[in-house]
Amino acid sequence: MKQTSNKYKSISIIGSGLGGLSAAVRLAHAGCDVTVYEKNPTPGGKARSLEQNGFRFDTGPSLITMPFVINELFESVGENLADWLTLNKLDNLCKYFYPDGTLLNAYSDKEKFAAEIEANTTEKREALYKYLDYCKTIYELTADIFLFKDLYSAKTYSNLKALKTLFKLPKIDSFRTMNEANRSFFKDKKIIQLFNRYATYNGSDPYKCPATLNIISHVEYSIGGYYASGGMYSLTDALYRLALKKGVKFCFSSPVEKIITEGKSVNGILTGGKEILSDVVISNADVYSTYGKLLNDTKSSTAKKYNKLEPSSSALVFYWGVNVTSQKLDTHNILFSADYKKEFEELFDKKKYPTDPTIYIYISSKFSPGDAPAGKENWFVMINAPNCASPNAKAQMSNEKIRDIILTKIKALTGYDIKEKLETESIMTPQDIEDQTGSYKGSIYGISSNSRNAAFLRQRNMSKQYRDLYFTGGSAHPGGGIPLVILSGKITAEKIMNTK
Ligand SMILES: Cc1cc2nc3c(=O)[nH]c(=O)nc-3n(C[C@H](O)[C@H](O)[C@H](O)COP(=O)(O)OP(=O)(O)OC[C@H]3O[C@@H](n4cnc5c(N)ncnc54)[C@H](O)[C@@H]3O)c2cc1C
Repeated sequence: MKQTSNKYKSISIIGSGLGGLSAAVRLAHAGCDVTVYEKNPTPGGKARSLEQNGFRFDTGPSLITMPFVINELFESVGENLADWLTLNKLDNLCKYFYPDGTLLNAYSDKEKFAAEIEANTTEKREALYKYLDYCKTIYELTADIFLFKDLYSAKTYSNLKALKTLFKLPKIDSFRTMNEANRSFFKDKKIIQLFNRYATYNGSDPYKCPATLNIISHVEYSIGGYYASGGMYSLTDALYRLALKKGVKFCFSSPVEKIITEGKSVNGILTGGKEILSDVVISNADVYSTYGKLLNDTKSSTAKKYNKLEPSSSALVFYWGVNVTSQKLDTHNILFSADYKKEFEELFDKKKYPTDPTIYIYISSKFSPGDAPAGKENWFVMINAPNCASPNAKAQMSNEKIRDIILTKIKALTGYDIKEKLETESIMTPQDIEDQTGSYKGSIYGISSNSRNAAFLRQRNMSKQYRDLYFTGGSAHPGGGIPLVILSGKITAEKIMNTK
């Protein structure tokens, strides 16, 4: 029999991704009886840890933005973040290597970055300041509605600021693409490419997604980019430990096979052939698999809607233990492609691996020496990949071929010839991302934001269709990326606490 008081609600959460952990911590603190069922043996979903031959790697996310979101989570449950986790601001957000040999450090200090741009490109510093002011305006107009609140609550629209947003649509720049907007601020192709790159922070295409996504540049340059001491897994571990402290129970290696329904109400979950009843079920699993596999609902209009939406891009990651100390590389590095437009056409239109991929290299051993043996480094090397929906993707290029392309490019742009210096290797393909985290077709950030109304197409946090079913995580509102999934957990927890 279901409880009626919020205080004693029993809650089953499917998945221990950061969104699931965020919801679990808040609900347990509020007095609910929370159990998390996770199919993997460890928590974190995309943000797990991999150890191999003395090297340690963060499996997925590497950059923390909007740290105040993490801080808020700890504060909201009466804890001090500093007692659990140390977040550090990056001086150099990313080191950019261009095919013509240009090097550019994206310093978090605005004046320093402006000087770097002026010294190495044809842009003037004023162009950067003007651009960042424009990005800030979009953030101020949209963040409250699109990131921090439940998009489907009447309350969200009841304050003056929210109304202003709706009426000032031109200011949020949703009618131009990101690339069109960036071209209107800058003439230098290298700077346009640099700011276009932020579309990839939610798995989208800068030549298609609305310029509203330029808020991401504001988030990175004006609020800052951060890393956690000990690497990204320290964040997962801190949230996991916090959840334990709050009384959350965890069942690992426990895939949920089904969400139990009675008519249009959910009653619990089925795992290991055993029915477990609860007042509320939260799915931190991907929306597609929640409808398709867990609810066995492929016919409803909602399920059909999700099947038609374009998933965000995926990634191919090589985890390399390298016998090198790379003075020339920083913690975060980008080796750009020569033709960015072509790269995105290949990814999103042709659905194939890029022939000249932009390469991202993240080296956590630069700030966390324990992540690699002395004198060596742990290179997380990632390229954008089409989601594994594409029957072409695998056939068109083998991992071996891509490895060769990457190694050749690293040598050409950075001077490091690491082919003979690879001591250990693991690979994560789009298919692995789907297998390991349940993400539909290996998409990293739920649906892509390539359409102007993507924000309104995401799964709402409280199901409209099934009573007592909620969603949190990258495929639900407000979307993917660490701060957003933590906010997603917050919105979901608040919804549950406020629903009688
Ligand atoms: C390669 C890569 C790089 C990234 N880089 C960044 C970055 O630098 N910065 C950033 O902010 N974000 C980044 N992201 C995105 C970020 O990692 C994700 O948005 C976020 O971690 C997703 O959290 P989530 O709550 O959606 O859960 P997920 O991480 O998707 O976890 C869902 C969990 O549910 C479990 N699950 C699914 N189905 C079931 C089932 N039936 N039964 C039980 N358990 C189930 C899965 O095993 C998984 O543990 C990156 C992601 C990847 C993959």
